[in-house]
Amino acid sequence: MHGSPTLERDSMHRFVLESAGVRGALVRLHASWCAVRDSHPYPASVSAQLGEALAAVVLLSTTIKLQGSLILQAQGDGPLHTLVAQASAGRTVRGVARWRGEVPCGELTHVFGAGRLALTTHTAQGDPYQGIVALEGDNVAAALETYFSQSEQLATRLRLATGPQVAAGILVQILPSRVTGPDDWPRIVLLSETVTTDELCNLPAQTLLTRLFHDEQVRMFESEPVAFRCTCSRTRIARTLAAIGHAQLDGLADERGELEVTCEFCNRSYRFDRVDVEHALTEGVHIDSPDSVQ
Ligand SMILES: [Zn+2]
Repeated sequence: MHGSPTLERDSMHRFVLESAGVRGALVRLHASWCAVRDSHPYPASVSAQLGEALAAVVLLSTTIKLQGSLILQAQGDGPLHTLVAQASAGRTVRGVARWRGEVPCGELTHVFGAGRLALTTHTAQGDPYQGIVALEGDNVAAALETYFSQSEQLATRLRLATGPQVAAGILVQILPSRVTGPDDWPRIVLLSETVTTDELCNLPAQTLLTRLFHDEQVRMFESEPVAFRCTCSRTRIARTLAAIGHAQLDGLADERGELEVTCEFCNRSYRFDRVDVEHALTEGVHIDSPDSVQ
């Protein structure tokens, strides 16, 4: 491996460990993570889970042929009751979490209560595909590893970390149709488990991979930029309003019949007057006034 060991920001690197028959990805989010984190006054314990979920969803999106987006959604009956992290095929991310009261750190059942973790793949055509696993284990990475083993998919390991300015992670996965020795995968798992939070958050990608897998043949691909982007729009909100229906919308509108909807992912506000609301209900998607109020 060559090149200057600069610290990559908001980027994702795929790599292959040639002789071991393993592929992997390394992600590090800075500005994109801060954009997600700063949209709500998250307590540190919530922010930690959201950062790990965001890094995870980018890593997982590299393991499937993705045309639309991949959504990781955790829902429980505990203090952190909803968490959504989304990565698109264009390497954009967004995410949001909702909580009540004090959210502890620690095992998922303490943080989320009893709940489930769903992974939904949206493709350009066809129905979305969803896989579900219980929200159990030490962290999101552990729950996702359970998901991969239960759904009989390729053996996969993840390490995730959230720092004050960075959300990061590494994934290793057995390459399909590659014949390797019986010790190869266990060895790579052991090596990948030695990675520290500091290394994940702060080391340049090449340095990190060389340090972790120094006796392996590491082939690194060109880094891919990752950015925060919200896909909300006036048209999409109108579609949602149409789905809510007349009776409930009347209850949500103010005395002038106007409605303001704020996107939870990016805090952008959309205002609909009485005519817009009627339009949304009858036409659903054909609303062409200026996009947002801020
Ligand atoms: Zn938005």
